[in-house]
Amino acid sequence: MPHVHGRFAPTPSGPLHAGSLVAAVASYLDARHQAGRWSLRIEDVDPPRCPAGAADTILRQLEAFGLEWDGEVRYQSQRDHAYEAALARLTQQGMAYRCSCSRRQWRDYGIYPGWCRQGTRRPDIACAWRLRSDLGARPVSWQDRVQGYQRFDPAALGDVVLKRKDGLWAYQLAVVVDDIDQGISDVVRGLDLLDNTPWQLQLYHALGVEPPSYLHLPLVMGQDGQKLSKQNLAKPLPDTEREIRQLLYATLTCLGQRPDPASRSAPVAEQLLNACRAWRPDAMVTHAISADLLGVTASE
Ligand code: GLU
Repeated sequence: MPHVHGRFAPTPSGPLHAGSLVAAVASYLDARHQAGRWSLRIEDVDPPRCPAGAADTILRQLEAFGLEWDGEVRYQSQRDHAYEAALARLTQQGMAYRCSCSRRQWRDYGIYPGWCRQGTRRPDIACAWRLRSDLGARPVSWQDRVQGYQRFDPAALGDVVLKRKDGLWAYQLAVVVDDIDQGISDVVRGLDLLDNTPWQLQLYHALGVEPPSYLHLPLVMGQDGQKLSKQNLAKPLPDTEREIRQLLYATLTCLGQRPDPASRSAPVAEQLLNACRAWRPDAMVTHAISADLLGVTASE
């Protein structure tokens, strides 16, 4: 069996909350169950969105939940050269182009209509870089390990931005370049990223690399029916031992893993070891986990 390498790749826009814990725990268990490696990558490509100290807080939170990663933590803010090289390669292949258009100009179109594909309209102003979704692999499909068979035409989703006008790298390019560079074989992440996968598959194809397997997890929904997120004031993870143990137990339960009720207050290492042995991704629900079941609700 080829070596399994999973990862957790949070954006450090704030501390982890119960929604991000689901992705951390599931990706950890999935890799460890297969005797694989599990890496931690901090996706800090957008510094204005990442308050100082948030990445360190995430590291401490993961440690408190017993989620120990392998090797050094990778920081995307230190990876400009790799993204630059990938963009140069895509540009050479005619798969990336400079775009001067502003969202305001094309807002009536739903997706960017590709005006700069045949030549940048205003090469004299700051430009973004976009992917030629019309020229990449189409359609793309994959067998998602929880959500089942998926098929998309990336061109119907539009020419996604690879590098922003302000010079910051976009998630789509950075995530693929790093997953390739780190040899990630198994991507386990939230369902909110499912419809980003088509562009990422086009990028794998263009860069000549076999894509990883994908497992998109159910999202944790608050009472308002919205995904738990920093925007809707999800509470940071608890930091007392008792609450940590109970939240880990609740997370495993919500992932369909049926931990032994007697382990509800057991140390995290013990809970993780048992869950790792018994890991069954097919026992998971496909769509939504209620935040109430995790005992976490939004803070005031
Ligand atoms: N950084 C992304 C996030 O925090 C996750 C990236 C991924 O797992 O592909 O939403």
